[in-house]
Amino acid sequence: FSTKGFAKSPKGELACRTRHKGDGEQNMADRTVFILGASRGIGLGLVEEFLARGWGVVASERSHGDDLHALECDALRILTCDVTDPDSYADLGLDAGELDTIIINAGIGGARHQDAMQATTEDVAEIMMTNAFGPARAAKTLLPTVKDGGTLAVMSSQLGSIADSSGGFELYRTSKAALNMLAKGISVQLAEPRGIGVIALHPGWVQTDMGGPQATLTVAESVKGIADVIEGAGAESAFRYLDYSGKTLPF
Ligand code: NDP
Repeated sequence: FSTKGFAKSPKGELACRTRHKGDGEQNMADRTVFILGASRGIGLGLVEEFLARGWGVVASERSHGDDLHALECDALRILTCDVTDPDSYADLGLDAGELDTIIINAGIGGARHQDAMQATTEDVAEIMMTNAFGPARAAKTLLPTVKDGGTLAVMSSQLGSIADSSGGFELYRTSKAALNMLAKGISVQLAEPRGIGVIALHPGWVQTDMGGPQATLTVAESVKGIADVIEGAGAESAFRYLDYSGKTLPF
């Protein structure tokens, strides 16, 4: 894992130091994850969790994330990209087959993005581009950087399950159902032939800017579960829709 040009900070040193668990454990440089959309919330929590587990982490931010930069250390590389702007991730400087795992976490879900009758055409375009087509395009562009047998995960939601849906949050649900469909297509067409497993993840209801303070899970609880799911993903290359505890969700 290249460390050229990466600054360090006290918090980052601490996050990285917790990786060294003793002899016989896997070396940090052995596994690398790219987390797209890591400035705050679940994405930021995933950066911290994977660093603590000894992974090399490439993290991208759209806008400057102070808390992400506070984690700077040798094992963390920070890039900038916007999931709705293909030019911003066309050349991130990643090598073919460099990554074990990509997690496309970026997403939105504000009040403007709930009611199909009240949302403007621009609101609809924004949520569909940010939550569905942007992640799918980024996944297709970045797939060559995942090694054969690796994992591509997209941050979906249980609210995208048509089988589970009980109404409300119409646009958000639709965007995540579309993301599931697009991810399944990527799995069948591009990923399965290379043994890459595609997973649509539900992180639980999480205390973030999006989830709100009343959510049932802390970021730490959610990202621990997600990292367990990723580490346990194994060689399964069939498309999966899993929650943070590893439970299979219905489409
Ligand atoms: P937050 O609102 O706390 O964080 C969203 C993250 O996505 C930020 O880092 C934000 O960057 C980034 N982002 C938004 N738009 C873009 C973009 N166009 N390009 C790149 N990055 C972008 O949300 P959460 O952490 O709660 O959610 C993370 C993911 O989990 C989302 O996909 C969400 O839909 C999903 N999810 C969350 C649940 C919850 O309960 N919290 C439940 C189910 C799913 P910036 O700081 O620049 O805005």
